Amino acid sequence: MDTTASLSILLLLFGISVANPVRKPEPPAFVPIPGNVDITTKFLETNKGSSERLMHGDIVIPKTRNALYCLNNNCFWKKNSKNLVEVPYIVSSSYSSADISVIQNAMSTFHNKTCIRFVPRVNQTDYISIEDKDGCYSYLGRIGGQQLVSLKRTGCLYHGIIQHELNHALGFYHEHTRSDRDKYVKINWEYIPTDKASNFQIQNTNNQNTTYDYSSIMHYGKTAFSNTVGKDTITPIPNAAVEIGQRQDMSNIDILRINKLYGCV
Ligand SMILES: [Zn+2]
Repeated sequence: MDTTASLSILLLLFGISVANPVRKPEPPAFVPIPGNVDITTKFLETNKGSSERLMHGDIVIPKTRNALYCLNNNCFWKKNSKNLVEVPYIVSSSYSSADISVIQNAMSTFHNKTCIRFVPRVNQTDYISIEDKDGCYSYLGRIGGQQLVSLKRTGCLYHGIIQHELNHALGFYHEHTRSDRDKYVKINWEYIPTDKASNFQIQNTNNQNTTYDYSSIMHYGKTAFSNTVGKDTITPIPNAAVEIGQRQDMSNIDILRINKLYGCV
């Protein structure tokens, strides 16, 4: 079964109609999130009502494969003849023009600092469909055909959250699950509910010789999934005071990694 078909079936199973997006009231004015807010908590809250099967908080469970290490690099987007990596996209008609501006502004950082180009889809086979679903989540890497990036109007339309989800679509896992994370953070399993433990599983990631990045837009905050108020689930080591979980903008290392992975010069 191709991916579009399986996704359609998945959505149909949950009674979600793709064909008839509903016009919704205008959202509240865009409010930038202060730097010290644990925005991870915000989007995990937003995802609580999601009917999608999510792993790691906001990654739609892949059908067949991991990103970053994949056969023949098939999970990555392809370069065009100008050495640019085009990621075609469509956006749901339920977004306002202001919403679309926020989305496009988040994309512009990729355009300015990497060889990734999110381009309006013409007739390309593989593309992302940005939709106002029930949370902030994405597939990992290019899965083929149409693939959903869910950005709920209330809760996900923030510069950093959009970049975070787009990074998943490019093939990046969460920083705190990378293969060498135990040298840089301590996971406090005692505060993690059993059914959330999978969010903290180490992945077989290709770290591309980049340093562990506490400031990555892909890093979760200290209290992500904590079952106890005031207790952290992730503690940076050796310095527990190091900030993690920012969703302001991609870090320099986030950008470096995209450039390395996609061979941008
Ligand atoms: Zn994520």
